[in-house]
Amino acid sequence: MASDTTTKKKAKKATPRKSATKKGAKAAKTPAVERHDFQASTRKLLDLMIHSVYSHKEVFLRELVSNASDAIDKVRFLALTDEELAKGDHDYEVELVADEAARTLTVKDNGVGMSRQEVIDNLGTIARSGTEAFLEQMGQGGEASPDLIGRFGVGFYSCFMVANQVEVVTYKHGEKHAVRWISTGDGAYTLEDVPAGTRGTSVTLTLKPVAERVEGEDPTPGTVEQDFASRHVIESIVKKHSDFVSFPIVMDVDSYEPERDAEGNVVEDGKVTKTTERKTLNSMKALWTRNKNDIEDDEYDDFYRHVTRDWGKPFDRLHVKVEGMQEYTALMYLPERAPFDLFTRESRRGLQLYVKHVFIMDECRELMPEYLRFVRGLVDSPDLPLNVSRETVQHDRVIAAMRKTLTKKWLGRFQEMLEGERERYETMWAEFGQAIKEGFHYEPKNKDRLEKLLLLRTTHGDGWSTLAEYLERAPEGQDKIYYLAGDKLETLRESPQLEVFASKGVEVLLLSDPIDEIMVEHLAEFQDKALQSVSRGEVDLSKVGKTEEDAEDKADEEKNDAKEEHPELDALLSALGRELADDVAEVRLSSRLTGSAACLVTPEGAMSPQIERMMQAMGQEVPASKRLLELNPEHALIKKLASVHADDPDDDRVVEYGRMLYDQALLSEGGQPTNPARFARNIADVMAASL
Ligand code: ADP
Ligand code: MG
Repeated sequence: MASDTTTKKKAKKATPRKSATKKGAKAAKTPAVERHDFQASTRKLLDLMIHSVYSHKEVFLRELVSNASDAIDKVRFLALTDEELAKGDHDYEVELVADEAARTLTVKDNGVGMSRQEVIDNLGTIARSGTEAFLEQMGQGGEASPDLIGRFGVGFYSCFMVANQVEVVTYKHGEKHAVRWISTGDGAYTLEDVPAGTRGTSVTLTLKPVAERVEGEDPTPGTVEQDFASRHVIESIVKKHSDFVSFPIVMDVDSYEPERDAEGNVVEDGKVTKTTERKTLNSMKALWTRNKNDIEDDEYDDFYRHVTRDWGKPFDRLHVKVEGMQEYTALMYLPERAPFDLFTRESRRGLQLYVKHVFIMDECRELMPEYLRFVRGLVDSPDLPLNVSRETVQHDRVIAAMRKTLTKKWLGRFQEMLEGERERYETMWAEFGQAIKEGFHYEPKNKDRLEKLLLLRTTHGDGWSTLAEYLERAPEGQDKIYYLAGDKLETLRESPQLEVFASKGVEVLLLSDPIDEIMVEHLAEFQDKALQSVSRGEVDLSKVGKTEEDAEDKADEEKNDAKEEHPELDALLSALGRELADDVAEVRLSSRLTGSAACLVTPEGAMSPQIERMMQAMGQEVPASKRLLELNPEHALIKKLASVHADDPDDDRVVEYGRMLYDQALLSEGGQPTNPARFARNIADVMAASL
């Protein structure tokens, strides 16, 4: 917990509010109003909200309504199994109360409410690690564009964009007291126990003054551009942003009826009767239950924003109605961008689950496989019991079957996109490809589908390539799919291991995602061609460029001839092998280098350095394994070194330069020399000598 998070004990007493003083005086005991400081990151966030010049501040209302609706969802779900709750108030609704004269707006719900501790946890700190990332993004972008708010789950605080003061009164069933939370957003809030009331939460905003926005100019600080106490304004915002909320959002609306005579004509100077009517502002329609053909793109997009709290448009969608043995509807979306936390454990995943149109749970992970965790949306099934829980869905066959079908739908959709809309597919892949590749690990049975969806970088140009495209370009006689794995694409492109492949016109896949090596293990082969690392074992390109018959004749002759052709290098190899025995398993001649003097190779069957590092990062013991240092027999340096060594086997330069060669090989794959300072010194000496 952050050190500045205040606990009860540390809280300072502040002057009680007026009303509290009165009540307190009667009870002869001053009710405690505690002052709490916000957590540091919350303070920063609030500051951004307060000073935001964002021009669509109306989104605060959607956030408050969505919190209210979440709270109702929660209590309705609890009431399924809790009799006490079930007996209570279940005319669920969100009520808006606007007071134009006082310039206040209240959002009230009869949802689950919060206990005192929950208020502190939820409205004083920000739980999800999202805050930090959110602040970072805002900091970089400059403008505090709250279209990020929804994505980062910090919605409540957006009300400080429009309010000078926010008061929350909340009561949770079973608690002794209700709690009042008040803040002006200036770094602290107050907390006070108040008498228990009806279950639920009301959030009252004291609105900032309205100032007209001038086109092309930033809004005046400390003002808002719309009158959020005006019922017309509220009504239109709710229609726009919260129409799909599945509970009624109600507001009292006044209408004025002039006095009329018997004929129905308005009486001049007659009485005007005011009637106040409660109006439901939203349509509450469950979009997914409607016929696909009757739904406009705009409606789908609005619904996407409703489900995901994203502000943008969805990138793609699937609206599926499954009939037959199982019956259910799924409405799923692909966001335009990957969430910031896609590769953390905490990231949102799964779909919403509805049973018979009743919301059951958010983030039901069992409905989507892990590697499609970025898919958002919902599934509505009449086949499940209303009281399914997180535990029961884990072993539910109906759910498992749904996941299987829905996964296939997405993989099919991707295939379609790849074939028909290549550019769009590449955009999608850049966002989500790294996650999709995890599919080889999580769902090896879908390998056949997944391997066709892969887009990879290769030594052929800068673009993406499918495996099939790679093979189409392969020269006659190439019987393997070659790849090189490492941390950075730029480093890979310059790798000495690629030299002989370049000289023979053989393309190599460049794999730089952390997941790639695991993917390769599962992929193993594509169209009967095995995947082979160019930095592992022996390289044999003797068949490349030859027809099959040629190849059979000559393969044996050419294979691994490098070693036999250079007996004069034997002594050097063994001298260096002894010197570097602690670092490498063997020093040998290379058949993969044309320009560089040396490179490192992983022995056949050994763990690659990337996998080793990954396992070490996960805290696993990794058996020490040594790699092979390969030297280029045609390189002038190697030839000279051999002749120096032949003239005087005790010449110190041989071992020193041998070590430098090893360090160079480490450097060229993005690693570090064993002793960087010594390496630098040696380089400087060599440079001085050659000048
Ligand atoms: P999010 O809704 O994404 O969790 P918010 O900042 O909107 O983030 O809200 C923070 C938390 O405060 C919610 O998760 C919820 O626990 C609590 N909360 C906010 N509004 C209400 C409400 N009306 N009723 C009950 N709890 C609420
Ligand atoms: Mg919220």
